[in-house]
Amino acid sequence: MLPASIDTLIVGAGLAGLSTALHLDGPAVIVEAADKVGGKAHSEVIDGFTFDVTGHWLHLRDEGIRKQVFALLGDDAFHRIERISRIWSNGVYTEYPFQANTYGLPPEVVKACVMGAIEADRRRPAEVRPEDEPVNFADWIRFYFGEGIAQAFMIPYNAKLWGVPATEITSRWCQRFVPKPRLEDIVAGAVGCNARGMGYNASFLYPKQGGIQVLADALARAVGHDRIFLGRRLVGVDLAGRVARFADGAQIRFRRLVNTMPLPDFVRLCADAPADVREAAGRLRATQVTYYNMGIRGPLGVPDHWIYVPEAEWPMYRVGSFSNAVPEMAPPGCSSLYVELSDRDTPPEALIPKVTEGLVAMGLIDDPARVLFTEIRRIPCAYVIYDFAYHGSRGAVHTWLEGRDALSIGRYGDWNYSSMEDALIDGRRAAERLAQAGRVLPVSALEVAR
Ligand SMILES: Cc1cc2nc3c(=O)[nH]c(=O)nc-3n(C[C@H](O)[C@H](O)[C@H](O)COP(=O)(O)OP(=O)(O)OC[C@H]3O[C@@H](n4cnc5c(N)ncnc54)[C@H](O)[C@@H]3O)c2cc1C
Repeated sequence: MLPASIDTLIVGAGLAGLSTALHLDGPAVIVEAADKVGGKAHSEVIDGFTFDVTGHWLHLRDEGIRKQVFALLGDDAFHRIERISRIWSNGVYTEYPFQANTYGLPPEVVKACVMGAIEADRRRPAEVRPEDEPVNFADWIRFYFGEGIAQAFMIPYNAKLWGVPATEITSRWCQRFVPKPRLEDIVAGAVGCNARGMGYNASFLYPKQGGIQVLADALARAVGHDRIFLGRRLVGVDLAGRVARFADGAQIRFRRLVNTMPLPDFVRLCADAPADVREAAGRLRATQVTYYNMGIRGPLGVPDHWIYVPEAEWPMYRVGSFSNAVPEMAPPGCSSLYVELSDRDTPPEALIPKVTEGLVAMGLIDDPARVLFTEIRRIPCAYVIYDFAYHGSRGAVHTWLEGRDALSIGRYGDWNYSSMEDALIDGRRAAERLAQAGRVLPVSALEVAR
């Protein structure tokens, strides 16, 4: 039963909430709206196929987190997989990242990409200080890659992914995630002699069975199921009075609170949030992603784990396969796909024929009749949008929360673009901050490690 009061209340049993509870000394409980743990890092089984919430590939760079994950799940729990990921455009496949691998595209496209990169390189100062970088993402793309690469991939792909033009996004989100090859790499990649494996995710870990859900399940076991309250949706919180209310009428008193649910949604629930904080939270935007889980009879025609689809003609921006990474993710003799849709205007059911046509054109399947099922799923809050209101609005909300001994962490609680490992690190760091003092430290301390 939910206790009447607790020292630390953690909202959300995704990876950030679970990691907070795991690292925290002292009484804490997690309240979670869903009926299982994991948040975005959960898996579902459909007719013997295991699907994550689109590709959830694990990259562990932090030694402490790596050790902890292996201790929880065992050394043998993961496959270490070399990324197979390409771009499909102009009817051909090229290696990832596009900017360093244009070989194989039609010659006129390759020429435009290389000439644009040379011009951009000539225009750029030899030393680029952070303050010299363009602040608008579209300009940043042209600054580093030139017009050809911008037009052939970066601008159309990012418009599909974010659902807003690159001119509305700041370049500050992409420092870590967008590889910036040197000019010689771009030229080498245009003639087909580039080294492979560029980028932050050249290899990844993936559970041998059970999908990414096994990670959250292992954390939950270590936290203790008696401290995790599923099906408890927070509907109101009074940070000054330190009381939280739930959809089923229950309430709990707390001394400190760690939130991991989406930051604007959380502020809407805070009875004592002043108007300027509510307005700031109201300016925070995120994309909704609709995707398909598809079961396929027989093998797939290409081995990729995920494929980028930048062209506007196709209603999807990325297609991936769990079974190409781990065959046990599909029943024997079958394969699985996830398809992330960029067309946000057409009902997703109506897009199935065009997507299927695309899968055939991409060589993934040779016959639409091999699609056993297509299940539609939505992620209401998938990618936070780094528009020009982002930093000021997010900062205002966090400053207000810090004054009330409330931390808001994780990809959506903190409101950022980050990975599963980051969520685990956030939880560890939140526990450290809570342990240090009765009062929490500024959120800037959390950002140092990113
Ligand atoms: C499409 C997509 C692909 C991704 N691919 C990768 C990848 O390949 N590799 C990688 O490392 N990361 C990936 N990520 C990122 C990864 O999913 C996140 O970084 C991580 O899962 C975030 O964990 P979290 O705990 O911060 O948030 P969440 O997982 O969102 O957890 C928040 C929890 O709060 C709960 N909650 C919400 N509202 C309430 C309420 N009112 N009351 C109680 N509980 C509530 C939710 O149910 C949820 O369980 C991807 C994300 C997306 C969207």
